[in-house]
Amino acid sequence: MNFCSECGTRVTLIVPEGDDRERHVCTACQTIHYQNPKIIAGTLPIVDDQILLCRRAIEPRKGLWTLPAGFMENEESTLEAARRETWEEACARTCREELYTIISIPSISQVYMFYRAELEKPEFSPGQESLEVALFSEDEIPWDDLAFRTVSRTLEFFFADRNREQFVLRDEVLSF
Ligand SMILES: [Zn+2]
Repeated sequence: MNFCSECGTRVTLIVPEGDDRERHVCTACQTIHYQNPKIIAGTLPIVDDQILLCRRAIEPRKGLWTLPAGFMENEESTLEAARRETWEEACARTCREELYTIISIPSISQVYMFYRAELEKPEFSPGQESLEVALFSEDEIPWDDLAFRTVSRTLEFFFADRNREQFVLRDEVLSF
């Protein structure tokens, strides 16, 4: 951040009085511009014994496979964000969602939240951000062509839990 969004003056990085870390502070109006983590919400859509994946049409990781997910918008819930992203990327409507993984990545200040979900109908097609959308059984998952570690972790948890027939909420930290 270079300029104050309140008055347009250049900001400086200082530790405000009473704070314990550097913030962007406006040298004119003194506004403190806090920056906080972003939340990415998505779904793990299940159709019978298969998982729906999307092949990305956009950077980053264009051409690789992902679960439908994206940045939360203001004024929506995490579940609403996950449903919206699934609709935008896979033209699929989910139901019976259950929160399944919460994965923090402190190094880039992001938190991923994936819901296990079913599809209202077995209907899906590529949205604008996807090259293709397809169903994969466990032995068909393109492990070497997954876009994000949060996606591979969530899929690893899912197949492990499905094999032992017990799903538990996972709260993970990825460091890299
Ligand atoms: Zn200012």
